Amino acid sequence: MQDVSGTRLRDGYEALLLDLDGTLYRGSAVIEGGPAELADGRQRLVYVTNNASRAAGSVAAHLAEMGYPATEAEVVTSAQAAARLLAGRVEQGAEVLVVGTDDLAAEVKSVGLQPVRRATETVAAVVQGHSPQTAWPDLAEASYALRAGAVWVAANTDRTLPNERGLAPGNGAMVAALRAASDREPEVAGKPFAPLLENALERAGTRAALVVGDRLDTDIDGAENVAVDSLLVLTGVSTIDELAGLPTHRWPTYIASSLAALNNAPALAHSDDPAAVRRELDARPDRALRVRAPRSEIR
Ligand SMILES: [Mg+2]
Repeated sequence: MQDVSGTRLRDGYEALLLDLDGTLYRGSAVIEGGPAELADGRQRLVYVTNNASRAAGSVAAHLAEMGYPATEAEVVTSAQAAARLLAGRVEQGAEVLVVGTDDLAAEVKSVGLQPVRRATETVAAVVQGHSPQTAWPDLAEASYALRAGAVWVAANTDRTLPNERGLAPGNGAMVAALRAASDREPEVAGKPFAPLLENALERAGTRAALVVGDRLDTDIDGAENVAVDSLLVLTGVSTIDELAGLPTHRWPTYIASSLAALNNAPALAHSDDPAAVRRELDARPDRALRVRAPRSEIR
């Protein structure tokens, strides 16, 4: 294998923007070796989640239980990104109808807006994030507000939510219900849209960042949308086979079997044929393959 350079993959960056599910853990199980692989570097770590149901503090506590030493300040959620988006769209103190958890309502409150649960003439916006308690009456309230012209922000449009029993409806499925009922389109905070990753870059204090994630359609597309490099890890949803037929701008910069690749020098892929990429990764599972030019070379 040909080295790209002698330095470890992570040392080409000042920050790692880390996806959670499928990258650091799978459901309730930590991905083996993850905490140790992340520990060894000077890079700023920012934990980035599309899930808007839990506050940053409880996400950090969950990560710490699994062995990732995350602090609340290092966690960026789509609920925070949605609240910031709203603050730029409506006046301070405006009423925002919340379809989602009390943690999402708390984020809305923290940016100086007033969370409510019923549609009235004074509701200025609707914000929608996942909650397992969302029911028809909640969607009906949102539908009335949207038909009356309220601003609409969705935390994310993830269609499915994997759990132990299979794929449950994600926030995107509930957004689809309101889209059908309102003939409107929401503005979206979460990956692959820019607001969440822009918040994460701001938190990192640098744009010399590497997005690390397991999904091509959220993490890798998201990295492209904010113009930073990306590493696809094959520990979650996306597979190498999905690269076949994808245009180059939707490819990650690097592909690796696991987070171990962060601590080794990447190798240059010899071919963009998915089967060949698979064979090269299998030959050296602790190393990333570079399948696209990094932005440092394009500039
Ligand atoms: Mg993921």
